[in-house]
Amino acid sequence: MTKKNLYVTTAIPYANAKPHIGNAMDYLLADIWSRHKQQLGYTARFQAGTDEHGNKIAAKAQEAGMEPQAYVDEMHVNFKRLLQAVGAGSTDFVRTTDIHHKAAVQYIWQKLQPYLYKGIYEGWYCQGCESFVADKEASDNNGICPDHNQPYQRLSEENYYFKLSAFTDKIRDAFEHRRIRIVPEFRQKELMKLLESGLQDISFTRPVKSLSWGVPVPDDTSHVMYVWMDALSNYLTVLGYPDNLDWQNYWPADVQVIGKDILRFHAAIWPAMLIALDLPLPKVLLVHGFVTVNGAKMSKTIGNVIDPFEIIEEYGQDAFRYFFSRHIPSWEDGDFTWEKFEAAYNGELANDLGNLVSRIAKMVQTYQAGVVGDVSSAEHDIQAYIDNMEALNFAAALDEAWSSVRSLNQYLEDVKPWMIAKNRDTDQEAKLHLEEVLTHSVGSLLQIADLIYPFMPQIAEAIRITFKDGVVSSEIPILFPKKDLHPAAPTVTNTEPALPAVD
Ligand SMILES: [Zn+2]
Repeated sequence: MTKKNLYVTTAIPYANAKPHIGNAMDYLLADIWSRHKQQLGYTARFQAGTDEHGNKIAAKAQEAGMEPQAYVDEMHVNFKRLLQAVGAGSTDFVRTTDIHHKAAVQYIWQKLQPYLYKGIYEGWYCQGCESFVADKEASDNNGICPDHNQPYQRLSEENYYFKLSAFTDKIRDAFEHRRIRIVPEFRQKELMKLLESGLQDISFTRPVKSLSWGVPVPDDTSHVMYVWMDALSNYLTVLGYPDNLDWQNYWPADVQVIGKDILRFHAAIWPAMLIALDLPLPKVLLVHGFVTVNGAKMSKTIGNVIDPFEIIEEYGQDAFRYFFSRHIPSWEDGDFTWEKFEAAYNGELANDLGNLVSRIAKMVQTYQAGVVGDVSSAEHDIQAYIDNMEALNFAAALDEAWSSVRSLNQYLEDVKPWMIAKNRDTDQEAKLHLEEVLTHSVGSLLQIADLIYPFMPQIAEAIRITFKDGVVSSEIPILFPKKDLHPAAPTVTNTEPALPAVD
């Protein structure tokens, strides 16, 4: 039986920095999926949120001269703004400082008791990552965190451990029997390889003296919950787990969207927690890659960080959605440059699609006084599009939609309705042929609007409105006005100064 209430989640970012393109990718992919399902008659509950505990947040708050709570109250709003800017319709926004979340995490802690034990952690730790580092990783990196350029600290502290090692076989079994699946497949292979050597128990707490800003461990005031216990639980607590029974209508999640850097936590710790809680596993983990800029990793030091808000302000929401869902592969790393972005905007959006819409609308206006006629007949084969959407390969699905755009442009070039139109007043056959051509064109455009709706909801709606009720509105919209904000650098062939003219 198919579950009627669908549920899609996004990773909850630390609320200590401005939202970045990776957060936008999470929101975008989850939103494309949920709009696609909505077209099929489902409604998907859509979770987003912020991770608001931890030392990094406490430190940033102190820098700003604020209490941590006041600091995250201010910071989390940036992520709500990003959701809105991207056009993602989040229905639930969870903050790990929510009273309900904290109480629910403490409840989960109690339920996990059979798998928690106290032990001494003796090993490496990166303060910047706020994470424990395995001996092998520490020696591979010569004792220095590559992300923070800081030597790892040696730690010896008493913590509560989660018996993750006890779940290796069960997790492997769940993946083998596809009770949980990782998309793309090669990521699942990576994980299976990791499971071969067996999972290690992990710290689920830190002493209060090392970490004060977090959810207190019930019945032990000397410990605070460590990030994974607190943060991973959000996918359940946001649904009202455990006290609001509505969570049962949504769990297990149908799709959990994550970046590749947090795969291990979501594919090992999280399923283990769920098995320990006797809850079903999420059906699919959709793992996307990173976005580089001009082939380089984004970094504040290099100063090449791109701001999703800036792109959206300059080119519009749907242009942003288009580029990041088509030109950044859904499953792998992708590259951004302003030049590539603007070329896609002017070439594909303004020329291929925008011109197509206004051209067809104008012909209907000019040749047929704005009346389209019956357009129900255009039905192209869209199986490849559907297959890719269902496989969560959104970039490939949008490629398919774009081949419809291209073939409609080609059709017009081949048939030349403007030539047929020359004889429409004298030749009845020409008049009928022209009607047929325009009806077919509008029908195809409306189908294209359906195909691009999950990717570009506003543009899809503008196309529908343009041809609403078989009549072209008098105002034909310019869907993507040409932009010249980031032109490609001119190709320099000769840098020699020109010789002065000889007279
Ligand atoms: Zn680090």
